[in-house]
Amino acid sequence: MTMTWAQAAKPEGKSFSLIVNIPLQAVSGYDVVCLQPVHVDGIAHAEGSLCTVRGTLQASITYRCVRCLTEVKKSVDTSFSFVLSKHPLSKEQEEQEVVYVPQEEIDLQPLVQQELILALEIQPLCKSDCAGLCPVCGNNRNITPCTCDDFAIDPRLSVLSSFFDDDHDNR
Ligand SMILES: [Zn+2]
Ligand SMILES: [Zn+2]
Repeated sequence: MTMTWAQAAKPEGKSFSLIVNIPLQAVSGYDVVCLQPVHVDGIAHAEGSLCTVRGTLQASITYRCVRCLTEVKKSVDTSFSFVLSKHPLSKEQEEQEVVYVPQEEIDLQPLVQQELILALEIQPLCKSDCAGLCPVCGNNRNITPCTCDDFAIDPRLSVLSSFFDDDHDNR
């Protein structure tokens, strides 16, 4: 969806309500299984060469926990605000992450996409203390603990253990 600087410059601003489909691969850092369309409501107010956009964003994302591979559904419900500038950015504006939009039309899709990605910046785990999968037997340790010895898969130790096996054979 696009709006124009002229629309946003009206005294009442330009309100918008949109449903954005964000490609799964845009959400990097997550093994995303499903990303439902993102609902965005907001209003843009332009004054001079600057435009402030405020709104709320609702999304539902299903991803796989990086440790135990369980599918996790997370709801995102957040508010956002960002500033656009028609003029090239000053150093200070760059630091404040003002977005340079020189053209008359403002495309909201990439801006909303960026806000969603910021809102998702959490550890992609099912829970902060996820015990993960057992590297030996593949068991999900959140459900049932297992008694496997993790050290068995340490390559340095497996070399040692075969050394001891050979030693044993030679006796
Ligand atoms: Zn997990
Ligand atoms: Zn195990």
